Amino acid sequence: MTPTIAANAGPSASLEVKCGKKLTIGILALQGDFEAHARAFANAGAYSVPVRKPTDLTGLDGFVMPGGESTTMLKFLERDCFIEMLKELLSTTPCFATCAGCILLAREVLSPTQPSLGLLDVTVERNAYGRQIDSAVIIEETELSGGPLEMVFIRAPRITRTGAGVEVLARRDGSPTLVRQGHLLAATFHPEMTADVRVQNLFLDLVCAHKLIRERSLLEGTKHASEKKRVHEKQRASHTLAQSTRKLLSVR
Ligand code: GLN
Repeated sequence: MTPTIAANAGPSASLEVKCGKKLTIGILALQGDFEAHARAFANAGAYSVPVRKPTDLTGLDGFVMPGGESTTMLKFLERDCFIEMLKELLSTTPCFATCAGCILLAREVLSPTQPSLGLLDVTVERNAYGRQIDSAVIIEETELSGGPLEMVFIRAPRITRTGAGVEVLARRDGSPTLVRQGHLLAATFHPEMTADVRVQNLFLDLVCAHKLIRERSLLEGTKHASEKKRVHEKQRASHTLAQSTRKLLSVR
C-alpha cells in the first residue's frame, strides 16, 4: 500500500516574525530547475532572487544550487572567478543543494571525477542509480516530522561516504539522500518537484537561525570593540597624565 503523504506545512507565516526581517534566498540560475526552486520557496513564503553572475552574490541570507547538469553548471562557474566567490560565500552562508547542486557542493565526486566546491564532507557517485529511464519516486519515512516524504530521483547521484560532521536525515536503500552539515543542506532527490515544502522549511529555519547567530556575534563584536576602545582611551589618558606629571616634575 502506498503511504499517504502528509499535508505540507504551507507558507511559513512566522518566518518574518521569527527572523525579524524578510530573508533573501539566492538561487543559482545558470542551468537546471532553478524556476521550480523559486516556486517552491514562494510556496514556503520566502523571497528569492536569481543568481547569474558573481555580482549577484551580495545581500543573500541563503543560497540554493538546483538540480540540472553539474558539468554544464561548472562550465559557467569557471568564468570570472565565479566559483571562487561562491566558495567564499558558502563557507559561511547557508546553502541548500539538490542533485547536481549536491554534486557541486561535495568534497569528492566520482564516476567520473570532477572539480567541485568541496565544502560538504561527502563523496558522491554521479548517475549511480542508472540513466534517465531509471528515475524514480520513492515515499519513505525520514527524520522530518509530519509523515513519509515523497522523494523524486532523476539521474541521481549516490552519497557513498559521509564525514563525521554530516547528519543523515533521509535514506534510499540505506544510502543517504538528505544530509546536513552545519549550515549546508543537500539532497540527492528533488524536493522542489513536489508540493511538500518541509525540506524548504527546514532550510529556511536553518537560514533564520544562522542569521540570528550572526547578528548576535556581530553585536557582541561591536560591544567587545567599544569596550576595547574604552580601555584603550583610559590607558591613553593615564599615559598622558603620567607624561605631563613627569614633565612637571622635571621642570622643578
Ligand atoms: N546527473 C546529473 C549530474 O551529474 C544530476 C541530475 C540532476 O540534477 N537531476 O549533474
